Formats: sequence, C-alpha cells, structure tokens
Amino acid sequence: MNKPLTPFEQRVLVHKGTEPPHTGLYTNLKASGTYHCKACDAPLYRSADKFDSHCGWPSFDDEVQGAVTRVTDADGRRTEIVCSRCKGHLGHVFLGEGFTQKDTRHCVNSVSLRFVADNVARTKEALFASGCFWGTEYFLARIPGVIKTSVGYAGGHLENPDYETVCTGSTGHVECVQVIYEPQKVSYEALCKLFFETHNFSQTDGQGPDIGSQYLSRIFCEDSEEESIARAVVTKLKDMGYDVATEIVGTAKFWPAEDYHQNYYERQGKTPYCHVYRNIFDRKK
Ligand SMILES: [Zn+2]
Repeated sequence: MNKPLTPFEQRVLVHKGTEPPHTGLYTNLKASGTYHCKACDAPLYRSADKFDSHCGWPSFDDEVQGAVTRVTDADGRRTEIVCSRCKGHLGHVFLGEGFTQKDTRHCVNSVSLRFVADNVARTKEALFASGCFWGTEYFLARIPGVIKTSVGYAGGHLENPDYETVCTGSTGHVECVQVIYEPQKVSYEALCKLFFETHNFSQTDGQGPDIGSQYLSRIFCEDSEEESIARAVVTKLKDMGYDVATEIVGTAKFWPAEDYHQNYYERQGKTPYCHVYRNIFDRKK
C-alpha cells in the first residue's frame, strides 16, 4: 500500500472492516470505467461487470484477471477478497446466489475503491455552492449520471485560494462543488433540484451551523441555458411558497480544494452534519 489512507480507510483496507450498507459512494454508480484499489491503485474491477444486487455495496460478477485474490475469511466460513498487489481488504465473494450468469458476487466496500471514468463522449460541468462543501458533495456525488465531483472555491478575488484564507470570509470565495456529469443520463434541472433539496436555501448568512459569506448558497451558470433552467427551478420554489436566498450568477474559475477535503465523508466513514435531504419536488428517487 502506498497511498495515504484516512483512519476509516485503514479500518476497512488494513483491518478488514466493513462500511455500513447503502452508504458508499459507488454503490449505485453506473458510469463506465474502472475501479482501482484505493491503497495501491491497481485496477480491480470494470463497470461492465458491475450489477445491482441491492445488498448495499458495489457488486461485481467478475474481476480484472489476476487482480483479486480469494482467501478463507477469519470466520472460516466466508471467502474474503483482497487486492492481489497490496493485499488490501476489499470485501467478500459469494457464489451460487443466481444474480447473474456468472453466479458470482464480489461484495466490495466502496471505500476500498477509486473509480476512474472512461473517456465519455460528452460530459458537462456544473458548479454549486451550498455551504460546507463536504455536505454538498456528499449528495451531488451520489446522483446517477454524475461521474465525478470535486470540492473547491469559486467566486472570489484571490488567485490560488486555500482553505484557511477562504475560511476568513474575506476573499469573496464560496465553498463549492464541481460536478462532472453525463447530460444524456442526468439533466441540469435534476442536479439543480437535488441541490435545493439538500440544503436550507432560505438561509441568508451561511448554511446550517456554518455562518459566513464563504457558506452562501449560489449557482454558477456556464451559459444562458443553465441560467434559465436554474431560474425556472427557483420560480417553482417561490410558487411553492419558499423564500430563496440562492444567488444565480455567471461562471467563475474553480479552484480545487486541498486533497483531504475531497470526498471527505466517504473517506472518513461519516455522514453530513450540515446537509440533509428533504423531498420537495416529489421526484422518483
Ligand atoms: Zn491494492
């Protein structure tokens, strides 16, 4: 293993722990690409072999040849799977359940993996700010059709801002999340709706317990099409009786945040304190 791991990642990959079901970043991911070992970056699984088992963890019915080693679990009953290169713990493999023709289910902890997307013909980028970027990212990263998210800073007057400087609230930046998505799989409108459903967009001084201009609610629009979609969603909310403090502004340069902020909740094995989901638009989830 050669990548720096968080305590939670160590608990799973080194000490053979298990993440809680239905919490992982990749459980429902359907984008095409390859899943690599979080610890040593060896390619382990391909998206073509991923299937819905509804067990709460990413499931694959095959592995990259030679990349995954099966060992008898310490419980003497199950079969543990580890990365062949670094021996990092991945999960368990089950046979004879009848899910797919290969009759095999690699039940893998999402946090043991890092997804690398194939070059998709057409992707788009969107930029949302709704307070603490850890929480904003947690929800946006889990939308089907989203390939990748990054947390960072935008909208201020300083080049190369860092976390400490932005936290002073004096640079004009907001904490935000860049979303790379496949427009043929998820619409910009759907992203906007989930953005509104996962934070208190009526709050004018920050988000939840995080107070300050760096935590304001804002949508950065790339073009007039995005802007009209975002404004239409706001109009819908106002028609429903909500006060909307969210600013809709033009595009701004995105400065990625420090590595330890990326996918924070996933890598720490935690869930957001600052954002919760509430169903406003009555979409089918
Ligand atoms: Zn590995």
